[in-house]
Amino acid sequence: MLPVLVATRNPGKLREIREIAAGLPLAWRGLHEFSDLTDVEETGSTFAENARLKALHYERRTGLPTLADDSGLIVDALNGAPGVHSARFAGTPRDDAANNRKLVALLASMPPAQRTARFRCAMAFARGGRVVLESEGTFEGLIVDEPRGTNGFGYDPHFLVPGLGLTAAELPPADKNARSHRGQALRSMLRQVEALYRSAGEWEA
Ligand code: IMP
Repeated sequence: MLPVLVATRNPGKLREIREIAAGLPLAWRGLHEFSDLTDVEETGSTFAENARLKALHYERRTGLPTLADDSGLIVDALNGAPGVHSARFAGTPRDDAANNRKLVALLASMPPAQRTARFRCAMAFARGGRVVLESEGTFEGLIVDEPRGTNGFGYDPHFLVPGLGLTAAELPPADKNARSHRGQALRSMLRQVEALYRSAGEWEA
C-alpha cells in the first residue's frame, strides 16, 4: 500500500476520502497520527493557494506524500465572499450558526435570481518537496433564508441545489459526495494520483 497523508484533523474528512477511494492501493494517514506537527497559516488569497501551502507544509515535515484541500462558499451578490474566509465569516472561533446568520442577513430582501452561489474545493498533492498534482471542483446552488436538513455541515442547510429542490443538508451523504465540489475534486485527484504512480511503475494494483 502507498501511504498518503491527508492534511486534515477532521476525522469525517478522512472517512469520506477512505470511502470514495476504497479499493485503491493507498493507505490514508491523518495529521492526528503526528503529535508534534505545527499547523500552517492559511494566508493564501485563493483556495488553490491554501491547498498548495498545506500540502507542501505537511509533506516537508513528515516526508509523506500529502493531499491537502481548501474549500468555501462563493456568493455572487457578495462579490465572492465569504470565499477563503468561509470558516470564520462571522469571526473567530469558527461558528457555523453565526456564519449562516450573517450570510442570510446580508442577502435579506434579495430575489432568488440574485442568490446564486457555489461551493468550490481545491486540492493539491505534494511529493518530493513539490506540488505535483492539483484539482478543483464546483457545486452550484442558491442561498435560501430558511435552513432545511440536518446532514452535512457549514452552509449546507442554506444551500439549495436547483433542479433537486433540496438543500445540501437534505441530501444523503452519498448523494452529496456524488455532486459536491469536494467529491469532484477528489475523484479527479485520485485519477491523477493513480496515473502518476503508474507512470513511475509504483502502482501496486
Ligand atoms: P475547510 O476547507 O474545511 O477549511 O472549509 C472551509 C469552510 O467552508 C467550512 O468551514 C464551511 O464553512 C465552508 N464549506 C466548505 N465546504 C462546505 C460544504 O460542503 N458544505 C457547507 N459548507 C462548506
